[in-house]
Parts: sequence; structure tokens; C-alpha cells
Amino acid sequence: MSARAGVVYLVGAGPGDPGLMTARSLALIASADAIFYDRLIPPGALAGAREEAELVYVGKAPGVPSVPQEEIGGRLVAAAQAGRSVVRLKGGDPFVFGRGGEEGEALRAAGVEFEVVPGVTAGVAASAYAGIPVTHRDDASAVAFVTGHEDPQKPESALDWAALARFPGTLVFYMGVKRLGENATALIAAGRAADEPAAAVERGTWAGQRTVVATLGTIAAAVEREGIGAPALVVVGAVAARRETLAWLERRPLHGRRVLVTRARAQASGLAATLRELGAEVVELPAIRIEPLTESEEVAAAVAAIEGYALICLTSPNGVRLLFEALAAAGRDARALAGATVAAIGPGTARELAARGIRADVVPERFVAEALVEALATVEVEGRRVLVARAAEGRDVLPGALRRRGAEVEVVALYETVREAPDEDAVAAAQEADYVTFTSASTVRNLVEALGDRFPPGARVVSIGPVTSATARELGLGVDVEAERHDVDGLLTALLADADA
Ligand code: SAH
Repeated sequence: MSARAGVVYLVGAGPGDPGLMTARSLALIASADAIFYDRLIPPGALAGAREEAELVYVGKAPGVPSVPQEEIGGRLVAAAQAGRSVVRLKGGDPFVFGRGGEEGEALRAAGVEFEVVPGVTAGVAASAYAGIPVTHRDDASAVAFVTGHEDPQKPESALDWAALARFPGTLVFYMGVKRLGENATALIAAGRAADEPAAAVERGTWAGQRTVVATLGTIAAAVEREGIGAPALVVVGAVAARRETLAWLERRPLHGRRVLVTRARAQASGLAATLRELGAEVVELPAIRIEPLTESEEVAAAVAAIEGYALICLTSPNGVRLLFEALAAAGRDARALAGATVAAIGPGTARELAARGIRADVVPERFVAEALVEALATVEVEGRRVLVARAAEGRDVLPGALRRRGAEVEVVALYETVREAPDEDAVAAAQEADYVTFTSASTVRNLVEALGDRFPPGARVVSIGPVTSATARELGLGVDVEAERHDVDGLLTALLADADA
């Protein structure tokens, strides 16, 4: 489904966790010509936008001059009338304290077609992530979403405190932290019990979500004491006490831990996603980038003569991907490898091969070059041509060992890893990291060089295996955790065991 020209989509982006964006919101973001977005949208929400899409920030930050509401309306109308497909992306749900109603009215008045895409609203989502069900058979048969922004002293305040005090169910206050003290006092004065449970949830569903539970009478002081700030919402009602049994976010094994992922961005997503699933706050600080060398004459020659190799060794998933790209560029495919014995250094590399129709003949138990050498002991190589297709800066263990056994080894560099310039925000966030993960010697070398004396001071160093660890030690880092299995799963297992210890 793609966005239609001349239409404005009022889209909810959910409360902050990217996983809570709807399928429809992602599809519309991926196809829109223009996206007007707010401040509180999930990290990476716009990552899927088209390269040509115009991305316009129209957010309102507290205390900062912002684009006036009429101007936003005007720009939406103009963009749609220019024949573009327009996404108006808002935090949570567009029609829940999101001024989506006003924008819809402005569009209707201008004769512009619009659609509304609901989002998961913070009142429901932040509560759920805090382990607070907004309704419960025993506690609450109704829930009210209330703005806490109104000045309760104002005689013309839109809020009927007496009615809210009587409301037979849960009250969820949006935008309520600043006026929490006044609001709580107004509610109690209007007859709501001061000892009723109340909770404040800060940055619900985001990394670093915090919750405090108190009573209506004490919540303002608790929020003040804990330094809870916007965005936060306040839940008043017996359900708030259910958190004691229903809190789940904090129970995840890596909750509260900040973990640095240093792999190249293209490969980091799996590791980062798993860490997040486990509750970690992930800082992605790619130390390296993969630069393909597949245009080289060396690669072209190897591919042209690929039938001549008796053995082809692949030492990384990237190597497999790039070898097949080079084959495809030469108009070839997997059949070119039909006659060769194919060796993969580990299961990740074997998986990439399998995805391309090649079952590796040799995969060692341990995923280091030494183990591959051992695993190849039974393969006849004397006097035969062997291709080792890998990164430019690989070690000499494998080619050396095969040469000593009389093989005619050609080492072909499919890519090189180059240092990635560190993002300043990520470097700042990294200072508080609990763990730094290294998945290769080159991630260690490049991160250490890039950060210099800004290497995270208190972080425990987690290494994927002995080669990576050796490089870390050479560069003066202590290695706190080393994976027993030298792949990403092994690294995760080792990190979890350490966090649990
Ligand atoms: N349309 C949004 C609400 C916008 S009003 C929605 O449906 O969620 C902004 C207020 O929403 C904030 O002041 C705060 O009270 C609440 N809010 C938004 N995101 C939040 C989050 N992740 N955690 C807690 N409260 C949040």
C-alpha cells in the first residue's frame, strides 16, 4: 500500500518503542513524498523514508520557539495541493492530545483529502510497559484520558475536578508533570481519596523508562524526589498498585544496562535488536565500515577462473555476500562453485552460503582460522589451487597453513574494513556504557583509535574470541568477558552470564 498523491495522512507513530509503530505507518512513511514530523517520534522512525522524500521537522520542544499550528496546517495544505503524498507524523495517536483534530479540520476547510492512521497512545502503552493495566476486572471498569496541562487555578479551566474525583475508574494524565502537585491537590480537594495508588511513568516504552509508584497524596513529592521529567504521564487508580506483580520490563535480563555495539552498521542490527529484546539500552557506535573491493582486477580474475579452484575458503558472511555479487556482476551464479570444495569459517558464513544454494563442505566447530585449518586436514590440497576470499586485512594463518601443505593459495581481498567516524551523540552516550562489545579485532583497533581517551571508562569489555581479545590487550584494554563460542550468539551468551553474575 503506498501513499496517494494529494492526500495528507495524519499518522500516529506510537509512544517511542519503534516496535510499536503500526504496519500502516511504516508503509506510508516508506512511500510518502513529504513527511512533517514531531519531536516525540520513535528513534529511526524515518529510516525507511524514500531518499527523495522531504523531511520537515515541525516539533514543539518545551521553551523553544516552534512552528505555529496555523503554519503547520498551511504547509500540509500546500504540499498536498502541489500533488504530493504527505505524512503528518505524530507521537502516540494523532487524535489523542495530538491536535490531529485541528489539522484535519484545516485540511477539510481547504478541501484537501486526508486519512487518519491511529497510533498506540502513550496512556495505554507507557502504562502497559510499567506493568499497569489501565482497566482491570477488580479495580477499574473505565479509564479517562485527561490533560494535566490546564491551570487548575483558572476559573475557566476545562477540567471538572469534581467529576474527575467521582470518575469510577482510572485517570491517566497526559502532560501532567509540571502541574502534578496542583492537580493532585485539586483532585483530593474535590473528593478523590489521598491514599489512592498513583504512578508516574517517564519516557514510557523508550530506553531508560522510569516509573515511580506512590499515592495521590504523595506522588508529586515522589516525582520531584526522583527527578521525573517530561515526557511523562501519571496514572491515578487502584490499578497502579498492580505494578507490584505485573512489572515485567525491569525483569528482563539486561534491563538497566547500557551496551555499546561496535560492529559495522550493516551487520549490527541483529546483535542490537537481540540486546534490546533482552532489555539493554543499546548505543550503536560502529567502529568500522565495509568497503567492497569487488571492482578490483584481482577479484575479476578470480571470478573468471573460479572453476580452476579445488577449494574455496570463505571467512565471513560479508565475504560470501560480496563473492556472489562479483559472480553476478560477471553473469555467473552458484553453479560456478559446483566443482569446488567449499569451506566456511563458521555457521554465520555457512548460513550465507546456504541462502545462496551452497551447502558448505567444511565448517569447523570453533570459528577461528586455526580451527578451519584443522577441519581442512582431510581435504586434499597438495598441488591444487585454493582460493581464500576474505577481507584485505586478514591474518595469514589459513593461507600459510595451506601453503605448507603444498597448496597453491591465492588470497583475494573482497573488501576492506575502514574506520567509521564516530557520531558525537553516540560517543557521549557511550561514556556511561556498562559493556562494550567487540566482534572482531578490527572493531577493537578502530574504536580505540577513534575514541582515544574518550573510551568508556567504566565499561566491561566483551570479546567474541581470542584473536579479538589479543588485539584488545595489545591496545591496553582489559578483557572482562570472552565468548566461548566465537560468534554473535556466543558473545550474547557470555554477556548474559556476566550480567547475571
Ligand atoms: N498524541 C500523543 C500525546 C501527545 S501529548 C499520544 O497519543 O500519546 C504529549 C504528552 O503525552 C506528554 O506530555 C506525556 O504526558 C505523554 N507522553 C507521550 N509520550 C510518552 C511516553 N513515551 N511516556 C510517557 N508519557 C508520554
